[in-house]
Amino acid sequence: MLDIQFIRNDFPILSKEVYGKPLIYFDNAATTQKPRSVVERIEKAYYNVNANIHRGVHFLSQAATEAHENARKRVQRFINAASPNEVIFTRGTTEAINLVASSFTDAFMEEGDEVILSVMEHHSNIVPWQLQAARKGITIKVIPINAKGELYLDSYRELFTERTRLVSVSHMSNVLGTINPAEEIIKEAHAHNAPVLLDGAQAVPHMQVDMQGLDVDFYVFSAHKIYGPTGMGILYGKEDWLDKLPPYQGGGEMIATVSFEKTTFNELPFKFEAGTPDYIGSTGFAEALEYVDRIGIDAIAAYEHELLEYATRQLKQMEGMRIFGEAAHKGAVISFLLKDTHHYDMGMLLDRLGIAVRTGHHCAQPLMKELGIEGTVRASFSFYNTKEEIDQFIAGVERVAGMF
Ligand code: PMP
Repeated sequence: MLDIQFIRNDFPILSKEVYGKPLIYFDNAATTQKPRSVVERIEKAYYNVNANIHRGVHFLSQAATEAHENARKRVQRFINAASPNEVIFTRGTTEAINLVASSFTDAFMEEGDEVILSVMEHHSNIVPWQLQAARKGITIKVIPINAKGELYLDSYRELFTERTRLVSVSHMSNVLGTINPAEEIIKEAHAHNAPVLLDGAQAVPHMQVDMQGLDVDFYVFSAHKIYGPTGMGILYGKEDWLDKLPPYQGGGEMIATVSFEKTTFNELPFKFEAGTPDYIGSTGFAEALEYVDRIGIDAIAAYEHELLEYATRQLKQMEGMRIFGEAAHKGAVISFLLKDTHHYDMGMLLDRLGIAVRTGHHCAQPLMKELGIEGTVRASFSFYNTKEEIDQFIAGVERVAGMF
């Protein structure tokens, strides 16, 4: 059992009022709030160990380097990667996917080769591949979904050809909440000698992920969605793959030697980390993972599931309610539309009641097209949310319904 009131004290923003009403923050899929310990760790790092890292002989630089590299090891432990060399710091999920799309396509894809995505992908797992399609003539194939918002695995199997080079799908959908069957997806791809990239932006904050257990080739996520700072994220890659991929960006840190005739590249993980990294953010990120570990990801998952069921049950009782995404295996995200109330109106009116939800296409326009809608209202929960907040939210939705 989690002591939610105790936990909420760690998040000062949750005591805020908006329009004179207590803030109810249900936009956690977009970004999560930060516990005091994360902000304090960042403040402490700036005040005590701020110096550019790597190659510094002086005390502060060495201390900052150690903190940054310890953060990498912290991430490694959190996702059970085999080595810290497999953890590349990026600006976030988006940059990590762009890195793989660019470097993998450069090294391993020819015109006519194929990458498999799914219809529920976030734009950040579509557009980088389209850029490569335009540049190199690769082909994108798309796994469809059923009415509950689950991937059609039979169709997935049929998409493979001898030109399939990679599968890149979300581990959990930011719109439907669907948690995709990663193990099956990976096994099938490996049977066709294709590596798999999982977009874990939504999965990592809500469930245990295990790189070695999954046997996944690439995995990406953002710190800000798991209670850490913005502008920071991770590319996990199996060392074998990362060794084979060419660098993504050039600059300092990623080189071994440079002359105008020839440059040699640094070893992993630095080969993919051009320029001064966010060595302060990384320590905040590490603290966020410590925080999540202290609460326990399994306890978090169980409690958030309870919130999801509690809210879903009540929403479903409303006349004219449409919920998008009813997968058997689902995370704490609910997308819905009520009668013909526009999602934007619903979001604006809930906002006036102090309730923060997200509205629109959620960076998943192809999925909206598939569902035949322009957008949804999305409520997404965290372990610091409560059933009382859900009651307020339900009352708010009912009130808006009454206005239309
Ligand atoms: N993938 C998914 C499934 C997401 O939900 C998001 C964020 N909404 C992203 C990718 C992009 O993450 P970021 O903006 O942090 O790079």
